[in-house]
Amino acid sequence: MKEIYVDHNATTCVKKEVLEEMLPYFNEKYGNASSSYKIGRESRKAMDIARTQIAKVIGANEDEIYFTASGSEANNLIIKGILNSNKQKGNHIITSKIEHPSVLNTCKALENEGYKVTYLPVNEKGIINVDELNRAIKRNTVLVSIMYANNEIGVVQNIKEISKVTKFKNVIFHTDAVQAVGSEKIDVRTQGIDALSMSAHKFYGPKGIGVAYIKRGIKFSPIITGGHQEKSKRAGTENVPEIVGMGKAIELAYSNLEESNNKLLKLRNYTIDRILTEIPHTQLNGDRENRLPGNLNISIKGVEGEALLLMLDMKSIYASSGSACTSGSLDPSHVLLAIGLKHEVAHGSLRISYGTENTMEDAEYIVENLKNIVERLREISPLDPERI
Ligand SMILES: *Cc1c(COP(=O)(O)O)cnc(C)c1O
Repeated sequence: MKEIYVDHNATTCVKKEVLEEMLPYFNEKYGNASSSYKIGRESRKAMDIARTQIAKVIGANEDEIYFTASGSEANNLIIKGILNSNKQKGNHIITSKIEHPSVLNTCKALENEGYKVTYLPVNEKGIINVDELNRAIKRNTVLVSIMYANNEIGVVQNIKEISKVTKFKNVIFHTDAVQAVGSEKIDVRTQGIDALSMSAHKFYGPKGIGVAYIKRGIKFSPIITGGHQEKSKRAGTENVPEIVGMGKAIELAYSNLEESNNKLLKLRNYTIDRILTEIPHTQLNGDRENRLPGNLNISIKGVEGEALLLMLDMKSIYASSGSACTSGSLDPSHVLLAIGLKHEVAHGSLRISYGTENTMEDAEYIVENLKNIVERLREISPLDPERI
């Protein structure tokens, strides 16, 4: 049976062209990028090229790019590093209720250390209210951290509107752009972004390599101390193969962005329309227009997300849910609750995130199977979809 992977918001495969670029740096050109002999210089040069490829795509300078071991680490470095170095200004940070755990739990940890955190709500479409953000900024506010695109419901925030406010109030604006890089056009200068996080494995690069963009002049301290790598802001011997892979992956993603986004949009819209019209008691979660091209998140009343995933798995369809067990907790997704879903509705949600290798046949196969699965699950479910 053909395997249909539609969980690209969780991770993506490493593209062949990316892997090929990486391979020599494992066993031929294995020099430490800090060494001054030939294979060391080669590693340094390869890293510089990747840094340029990444800086170019987001409109940053090379010296504003810091390699980390993940998107999570980039979020940690930016948030903890900036707050730690700007204590004279204050101890307040503003974020949203729908952030990735690597932002939310970092903020919670900071609260335990005495920092103050405001968690902004979102509306039923998953979008923050910029006036509310404006009112939340106080004298002691150092940082605003609002994600670019949400990993569960795919909603894209109005970055320009947010940065207008942060610029006017003179606070630093960070955006977790891990889901956005690879499908959104980003220009940190014109969009007023002071700090940004990304991760290669969300755009067909390798897992375990991320980048923190931090604008020149912003003070921040390292969270991993040691050697002088990354201008002493992130110690540890550079992961040259993965850095090379990240550079190639981002270049590829942006070399035919429009074409690939159009394809994803077609798959997404086709799937949304068919599910909403052909499966009763379903609803789309998150704004339909301002969302990632490949993402759809749908609540299917009266079914359990976990059961849904299991049945899809048996048909070799790999998707995701905002339901309990996957996340290891009994509570449904904090994102679905933040947009106002009832627990029962949040538990019955399905996330499909398409990627460049998916086809229209995949989408048809998914919808047909989903229709059967939902019908069967509803027959045995104690929940009445009419009454949820
Ligand atoms: C995947 C993801 C992260 C974490 O990136 P890792 O490299 O997996 O640590 C952070 N934020 C968002 C929005 C993500 O989707």
